[in-house]
Amino acid sequence: MSKTKRRTYDDSYFNYGFTCMIKSGIKVPQCVLCMKVLANDSMKPHKLKQHLRTKHAEHMDKSKPFFEAKERELKRAKLDSTGSFHIQAQAITEASYALSYRIARDEKPHTIGETLVKPCLLECTQIILGDTAAQKIADLSLSESTVKSRIDDMTADIKRQVIEKIKSSPMFAIRLDESTDVASILQLMVFACYVHRETIEEEFLLCSPLTETTTAADVMNMVSDFFSKEHLDWGKLIGVCSHAWLSY
Ligand SMILES: [Zn+2]
Repeated sequence: MSKTKRRTYDDSYFNYGFTCMIKSGIKVPQCVLCMKVLANDSMKPHKLKQHLRTKHAEHMDKSKPFFEAKERELKRAKLDSTGSFHIQAQAITEASYALSYRIARDEKPHTIGETLVKPCLLECTQIILGDTAAQKIADLSLSESTVKSRIDDMTADIKRQVIEKIKSSPMFAIRLDESTDVASILQLMVFACYVHRETIEEEFLLCSPLTETTTAADVMNMVSDFFSKEHLDWGKLIGVCSHAWLSY
């Protein structure tokens, strides 16, 4: 059995309007004018020239820069086609965030994504829209760890936005409160009140466990650490209101 000799691409083939692409692991010539892909054994000047002469006679006299510009257009077109794949992947990620947000908002366990939400979505999509659509839903990640990381991302993003708003507000106030979490640990809650687009907004700013004592000094230290970490300006703080247990 004789081994077929593979031809390699030469940069001078650009003069005939051909670039090189890899098809099934083999280098093949591709016409930058009509995008036609020829076989590897057509990688010879006379074959490429023949294509140019018979298919694109009007470009016979064009030089390399012309064909190189055409190739850039070709690459851009290819990017657009992978761009649509990118948009779909983006939509799937967005859906994963939207559903994680709902899970957090309704205070449901993070496991509900993979144990209930996704199976329901898959089943409905398959019944109503068919297998192709269901295949897209199959790519949606709603595992416990994904849901947790999405919620963490959104929390960090919201916190960043609130801090940015506080920083751009001419003044702000804070309200200190307490809450007990599921493990019966006392949590310090801090809400911030600030001016944004000429209206007063109040947002949750900080939640931190008060593990040891809960004296006013402990709370003050916690708030102070947070202010330094986030570079919040004490000079703009015009009011602090607190729960009775923090007031001494
Ligand atoms: Zn062509």
